[in-house]
Amino acid sequence: MSVLIYAENAGGKFKKSIFEAISYARAIADQNNTSLTAVSIGNVDAAELALLGKYGADKVLNVSGDKLKDFVNQAYASIIAEAAKKEGSAVVVLSNTFSGRGLAPRVGVKLEAGVADGVVALPVQEGGSFKVKKTAFSGKAFAIVELTSAIKVIALVPNSYKVVETGGTAQVEDFSVESKASDFKAMIKEIVRSSDKVSLPDAEIVVSGGRGLKGPENWGMIEELASLLGAATACSKPVSDAGWRPHSEHVGQTGIAVSPNLYIAVGISGAIQHLAGVSSSKVIVVINKDPEAPFFKVADYGIVGDAFEVLPKLIAAVKEYKA
Ligand code: FAD
Repeated sequence: MSVLIYAENAGGKFKKSIFEAISYARAIADQNNTSLTAVSIGNVDAAELALLGKYGADKVLNVSGDKLKDFVNQAYASIIAEAAKKEGSAVVVLSNTFSGRGLAPRVGVKLEAGVADGVVALPVQEGGSFKVKKTAFSGKAFAIVELTSAIKVIALVPNSYKVVETGGTAQVEDFSVESKASDFKAMIKEIVRSSDKVSLPDAEIVVSGGRGLKGPENWGMIEELASLLGAATACSKPVSDAGWRPHSEHVGQTGIAVSPNLYIAVGISGAIQHLAGVSSSKVIVVINKDPEAPFFKVADYGIVGDAFEVLPKLIAAVKEYKA
């Protein structure tokens, strides 16, 4: 057997979540004394591809071409499945991103594999089966699922596994798969960026605001703190419903699920539907003027106070620290 990792790129660059997934896949390969192959799809230059070796891949299959420069779900799934067949891979690892979540079941069907998405830890291996820990019920719980199939497809949640630099080098091979018309039924025609800010699902730090901030005119404080910390901004559902912030920032059960290293919640009560999308954050800091706010029950650090007094002090402190 071998292990295959799909190295997803964004505009020709690999994000940190991919280096986490490679490190994770490397650990599985090492546990099984086998090799790790990365498959890269799209137009990625040689210097960037070399990074895949630096984080643990032994070999890189590079698939390029104009038709594949943007994500095409069916076509990418066919390529990943063919790469797995070529390499005789018994484990396929993806990052649990928007595209990774779409690809995992498609790749699973093509390889007749067992699939687990939302995975947060290394599998426990027992006689050919994998027990994996994954998030369930929008992050409100964890489930242990057992994959007993010969081939396993695993989608790893960003920020749930450490990046390990092995300093190795990977041999890069060009790889191509004969394309089928049915693989290109839905294609991206244009990508319109709504902002250049840190992308929320990949962010390591998130500064999030709720109704306690009273109105959109007060978001300058959230944005300033986020920019100082290199963080993404987020909000609760009522805030985006009221049009104070874009819907793309809404986190929770009905919004985006995030798992950053640090989640700072300002003026958010901590309703169960909000917590569903943020509770797998590594460290949670809550700023709320009500000491009984439910968010404090899941907080690692809590500040009971008025956001309009606490935030300016926090911003000043971060500025002083960085000076
Ligand atoms: P509020 O509940 O109004 O809380 C505001 C908080 O700010 C309070 O705790 C208050 O003490 C504090 N505050 C007020 N003034 C200040 C101040 N000056 N300084 C500091 N703190 C202050 N919600 C989500 O967020 N995401 C979801 O995905 C989601 N999905 C839902 C799905 C369903 C089916 C339902 C029914 C609801 C969903 N909700 C969701 C809504 C959720 O139940 C809560 O209503 C919502 O999260 C509350 O938002 P909030 O905390 O910003 O506002």
